[in-house]
Amino acid sequence: MVHSETSTGVLQDVAALAAVVREFDDVLVLVDAVTSLAGSPVETDAWGFDFVFTGSQKALALPPGLALGVASERMLERAKTLEARGLYFDLPSFLQATAKFQPTNTPAISLLYALDRQLERIAAEGGVEGRWRRHEAMRRRVEQWSEECGVAFLPCEGRRSWTVSCLRLPEGKSAKQLVGALKEQGWVIGSGYGALKDTTIRIGHMGDHSVEGLNRLLPLVGLQLA
Ligand SMILES: *Cc1c(COP(=O)(O)O)cnc(C)c1O
Repeated sequence: MVHSETSTGVLQDVAALAAVVREFDDVLVLVDAVTSLAGSPVETDAWGFDFVFTGSQKALALPPGLALGVASERMLERAKTLEARGLYFDLPSFLQATAKFQPTNTPAISLLYALDRQLERIAAEGGVEGRWRRHEAMRRRVEQWSEECGVAFLPCEGRRSWTVSCLRLPEGKSAKQLVGALKEQGWVIGSGYGALKDTTIRIGHMGDHSVEGLNRLLPLVGLQLA
């Protein structure tokens, strides 16, 4: 399951979905937390997840190149029973190597230093909870602006991602044009995805972005919509 659905800006209720899945002993819950982890609460154990993963390049705001994941005992036990595990997702081999403080392959050491530095910054921000609060404030800022401007969110209230806001454009406005106009002013936002390409825009506000940044960006988006 995808937690924060980056193409639509929906924050799925993965805790509720996982609770249903956990009624079945033989089904594991694997969660793509690529744009939620470090940007909004992800309670791996409390919500009953078996595998959660993210990439370094999204809400952690690091260069791309690291995939980070955590597996439950259940997941590891199941993995051991499978023969064709391949190389990249051979969890038992990761565990064996880790027990010896060894990597399975040469790691991207420079990125691990970057991660170490970013974790220090996260600690200084008040821990991951502090980071959640900043992301929640950014989501609220876009919500407040959308109400003032009469621009509708694609996801309903309460199910909006804290790291990316997907907004419906008013009739007659083109995402391509809007994104292009903002680019000329030095701002990068996204157009919609797939079928929503020209009718929605996506404002990414994850990682090291701030409410102050949104305060500067949103009026410029508003001018394009006027
Ligand atoms: C970006 C993204 C991915 C893919 O990450 P890649 O490293 O580009 O493969 C997966 N899931 C979500 C929700 C994403 O936003």
